[in-house]
Amino acid sequence: MVIAIDGPAGAGKSTVARAVAQRLGFTYLDTGAMYRSVGLRHAQAGGNAGHVAATISIEFEGDRVILDGEDVTDAIRTPEASEAASHVAADPQVREALVAEQRRIVATGDWVAEGRDIGSVVAPDAAVKVFLTADPAERARRRAAQHGLDPQDVLKDQQARDARDNTANRATLEAPKDATPVDTTGLTLDEVVEQVVTLAIE
Ligand code: C5P
Repeated sequence: MVIAIDGPAGAGKSTVARAVAQRLGFTYLDTGAMYRSVGLRHAQAGGNAGHVAATISIEFEGDRVILDGEDVTDAIRTPEASEAASHVAADPQVREALVAEQRRIVATGDWVAEGRDIGSVVAPDAAVKVFLTADPAERARRRAAQHGLDPQDVLKDQQARDARDNTANRATLEAPKDATPVDTTGLTLDEVVEQVVTLAIE
């Protein structure tokens, strides 16, 4: 069974997806970490991003992300890695390689998969599809607090990333029609988790 959690950067997807997975005993899949890993390797090594995506090895060990045997959990979270990820995510060859891998991963077992195109492309038959949103200022505030950054700077980067994410793959990055929209602005984590878990056990 797959629970798909999509939405823009900073809507709270990772925190919510992890918590829902823990509550239900499902495994959490962070597809953004895969785009970030491709972005990081491509920024370091250059070459064709599609080839990078098709040839690197990405493994998840608990909360750690292992890229070609190296722990990149922290390296993929820098602002530079975020930017690199959103650039390579616009490459259709990169998307093709990662989506194929993600479909293979969620084909067996119970997953909470988080990303931009889970409900639309990776797992269109997902049992539950949630599209998380939040007010842009709130999204920036959360990210700034999480990383100790200036909210205004984060807001500016976020606007650029949203624009790039939207033009990169408009059809796949929009909310699927059958997704349940959940606006997390002003809600606590527990309240959001409760809503998603309720959808899953209904
Ligand atoms: O979710 P996260 O911020 O880690 O994602 C990093 C970038 O990867 C996003 O800005 C987006 O460009 C890309 N991405 C994507 N499709 C996904 C997950 C992430 O295009 N399923």
